[in-house]
Amino acid sequence: MSISQNLQQIKNTIPNHVTLVAVSKTKPIEAIQEAYNAGQRVFGENKVQEMAEKFTALPKDIEWHMIGHLQKNKVKYMAEFVSLIHGVDDFDTLKEINKQAKKWRRTIHCLLQVKIAKEDSKFGMSPKEVIDILSSEPFLALENIKVVGLMGMATFTEDTNTIHQEFQTLQNLYQSLQQQYQFTTLSMGMSDDYELAIKNGSNMVRIGSAIFGDRNYL
Ligand SMILES: *Cc1c(COP(=O)(O)O)cnc(C)c1O
Repeated sequence: MSISQNLQQIKNTIPNHVTLVAVSKTKPIEAIQEAYNAGQRVFGENKVQEMAEKFTALPKDIEWHMIGHLQKNKVKYMAEFVSLIHGVDDFDTLKEINKQAKKWRRTIHCLLQVKIAKEDSKFGMSPKEVIDILSSEPFLALENIKVVGLMGMATFTEDTNTIHQEFQTLQNLYQSLQQQYQFTTLSMGMSDDYELAIKNGSNMVRIGSAIFGDRNYL
């Protein structure tokens, strides 16, 4: 199947209120252009430099999302154009995003990444750390960022029960904070688990291989 057919098929299975982030990491410009020509406008990348190169080469009405783990010293390369940063997992990174956003006179939207998976390799904060940040004075002083919700990744497993429980944990946290912090976005679900994620309240799915085919590397 072609990229546009894959996209169409996924769009047919997700409700209108769910934003599809097409994860184009490692994929060439031509593949992204093909998805763009089929109407896709939101793309996700996990490396800042790769995203910046693609931003330069592609149409300017694309919304670029940073979905990978962030190094603070890379934030400056995307502050001009990034539209949502999914994987923020400490206060220092928020501070750096704020500083770089200010230089461009922008407000950059961010999601806090919560660790729901059992694997040590996955990043993210505990629910307590999330709440501590959101209620801290230094956080409230950051005027050029806006935390608009939460992001999480389930354990890489065939065991649907585990994935389901992890999604539920994140959904519960999201719902408990949503009103107070005016959250709009719960980013969870990838190619293999997005339908389950949507059943558990996700309104933003990050889908790569189901659109672009397998990657040679992560
Ligand atoms: C690579 C990646 C995805 C997409 O994974 P697929 O299984 O190819 O859909 C989603 N989220 C994050 C954070 C990723 O790094």
